[in-house]
Amino acid sequence: MIALDDTGTAPATPEKPAYGSPCNNCGQCCRSELCPLGNELFGTWAGPCPAHERTADGFGCGLVLNPQRYRPARAMARGRTALSQAAVLLIGSGAGCDALGEGERPDPAETARFKTVMAAMGPREIRRAKIAWGVGGR
Ligand code: SF4
Ligand code: SF4
Repeated sequence: MIALDDTGTAPATPEKPAYGSPCNNCGQCCRSELCPLGNELFGTWAGPCPAHERTADGFGCGLVLNPQRYRPARAMARGRTALSQAAVLLIGSGAGCDALGEGERPDPAETARFKTVMAAMGPREIRRAKIAWGVGGR
């Protein structure tokens, strides 16, 4: 869960949707604060994330889109697709917006849903993904 401010929002950037809504790629979360994977790779929680990338419809995670830019040797050794898929898992992509905007309160039902999604990922898959990126669980 990531607390947000509104600084750094480009004019054409979509507004952040409500907590728990489908992600619209507004990118506010990654401008404000890094996720745990980003923190492990870049050594800070302070946004904007170095892997925050502009896309045709907003912003995306560079570790998913272009992992070779951030860990070229690892992408060469493990494969770009494998690293990208591992990043998808580790950043919780597809679960919806788990970031909180200024003054926004988390919906407990959505928080419970996020926990269920995380639990369903499977510890073995999570461990494999972490090993692929060389983070945690070593
Ligand atoms: S998770 Fe939320 S804040 Fe982050 S890009 Fe998606 S919609 Fe925007
Ligand atoms: S690693 Fe990806 S998802 Fe995590 S903060 Fe950086 S750009 Fe966002």
